[in-house]
Amino acid sequence: HAKENGRNTYRFFTESMNANALDRLQIENHLRRALELNQLSLHFQPQIDLKSGAIVGGEALLRWQSDALGFVPPGRFIPIAEESGLIVPIGRWVLREACRQAMLWYDAGVRNVTVAVNISALQFRRDDIVACVSQALAESGLPPEYLELELTESLLMEHVEDVLDTVLRLKTLGVRLSIDDFGTGYSSLSYLKRFAVDRLKIDQSFVRDMVEDPDDAAIVRAIIQLGRSLKLEVIAEGAESRTQVDFLIREGCLESQGYFFCPPVAHDVFMGMLARGLASPAHERAP
Ligand code: C2E
Ligand code: MG
Ligand code: MG
Ligand code: MG
Repeated sequence: HAKENGRNTYRFFTESMNANALDRLQIENHLRRALELNQLSLHFQPQIDLKSGAIVGGEALLRWQSDALGFVPPGRFIPIAEESGLIVPIGRWVLREACRQAMLWYDAGVRNVTVAVNISALQFRRDDIVACVSQALAESGLPPEYLELELTESLLMEHVEDVLDTVLRLKTLGVRLSIDDFGTGYSSLSYLKRFAVDRLKIDQSFVRDMVEDPDDAAIVRAIIQLGRSLKLEVIAEGAESRTQVDFLIREGCLESQGYFFCPPVAHDVFMGMLARGLASPAHERAP
């Protein structure tokens, strides 16, 4: 009897694995042509100054509308793009497109609103990342201090010496650096200063439960305190409720990004929000 059960479990397991592998292959094949078919776009999620309510930045987030597969969420296709290497050309496109669009904000008279671009580890380790960033800046005309690169802790903490070299060359261009999903990896705190990081992004998993869970509250508090001590900006990701925002303000967090304020929106919608923001005297932060 047990043997039979075992076999059934085994068959179920391989069948679902095959389905998954097929799915991945299908996604990879379609993703290969997504760029040339113009199926990729960027949405922007506002980053909010909690004191003034002003938009201080927009995170560029990839969206893929495939003819064959429909809308595929980033959580599904980004890992496949990374494993297949497709993230390299896609990431290059994201950089150029994000800078081009941020230059439209700048040209519209908006100041002190940065654009944040997620950089994957594979893209970062290629020796042309510095050239890609400087090309995207030159081509768009965007002042470098308006571009923020989001890196992850694991990216920074592997091969530290090589990474440090690249990071310092990027900093020489004048761009800003932030650490995404902060708290989920293993940062060596002394490196935060060496890497000349500008901003820590508290991972949304801590923000989600911080009001109810004392452990998550302690982590959020510790990151805010760390930022204050090292003079790094701190932004809390994934704030969805008034209660969470009040909690963040009480704990001295100055910036947040989350559905409570706004989900990621299409570029024209984001531009409209910036234009309305221009009417209020809320833009105070120097980038
Ligand atoms: P991330 O960089 O940590 O981006 C934040 C994610 O949280 C986004 O998901 C955003 O839509 C979502 N989010 C924002 N506010 C809330 C909230 O209040 N509640 C909840 N539950 N979620 C919220 P998205 O757009 O699905 O992207 C997922 C991940 O895919 C990103 O995480 C990033 O790691 C990756 N990604 C997206 N675009 C790019 C890209 O252009 N390049 C690279 N390398 N990765 C990207
Ligand atoms: Mg990010
Ligand atoms: Mg994040
Ligand atoms: Mg992430």
